[in-house]
Amino acid sequence: MPDQATPLLSVRNLTVTFPSLHASAPAVRGVNFDVGREKVGIIGESGSGKSTTGRALMRLLPKATRITADRLQFRGEEILPLSDRRMREIRGHSMAMILQDPKYSLNPVMTVGEQIAETAILHEKLSRRAARERTLEMLEKVHIREPERVMGLYPHEVSGGMGQRIMISMMLITRPALIIADEPTSALDVSVRQQVLAILDELVSANNMGLLFISHDLNLVRSFCDRVLIMFGGRIVEELPASQLEQASHPYTRGLLEALP
Ligand code: ADP
Ligand code: MG
Repeated sequence: MPDQATPLLSVRNLTVTFPSLHASAPAVRGVNFDVGREKVGIIGESGSGKSTTGRALMRLLPKATRITADRLQFRGEEILPLSDRRMREIRGHSMAMILQDPKYSLNPVMTVGEQIAETAILHEKLSRRAARERTLEMLEKVHIREPERVMGLYPHEVSGGMGQRIMISMMLITRPALIIADEPTSALDVSVRQQVLAILDELVSANNMGLLFISHDLNLVRSFCDRVLIMFGGRIVEELPASQLEQASHPYTRGLLEALP
């Protein structure tokens, strides 16, 4: 049984290979890491395998993708292999993913209020009326002013920062234990970025969740996360507490540090 000592997520020798006409090298090569109730960052250059790692955990990759691992455990439960049904349960209730652009995650033909309410009705078995109250409450949790007005907007009518906060509020209703955030602030203006990060930070610690935070921005990860995994060429080449990144020894990480202003 899972207990406090069991990490939320435990990954050993995770390897992911995309189908290709030619024999292709794996995009993720024998990756090992654990995530507890903490903020763990993954940094690495474009194409290093960060998103593929996150998506493999959620099983959000094309069907023919080959995913293998010696261990892929979520709260002590082996999730590779796992029935589609059980994986949907895990995706719907205990592991959630936030992507870079909320536009692709929100339903374009439903108002913000309808989508959040729908989530509350589905997950909390609320009545329409109670779901409306819950929606207002959730929008306030992510510090949206004028929640009544925002509820009536369609996704194309909200800014990127607002969209990301709406995604976070919907996700909270499903009470995930672990959030995988893939470049959640990369498409946002710098001024809005801090706001979204602060909300994420507040909610992760208030609810004792784990966060796997994918980014290509070393400075951001260093200030935001507790621990940092550095990916290069599909491998995790180094793992350090954020406060000790200066001691990194891999040439790729050294290069990143030296390039900082
Ligand atoms: P990152 O998120 O670090 O930028 P990715 O995980 O997106 O990197 O990509 C890692 C490698 O896998 C890249 O070479 C990329 O081209 C390849 N890749 C990613 N997704 C797919 C896919 N659906 N089909 C084929 N190759 C893919
Ligand atoms: Mg990516």
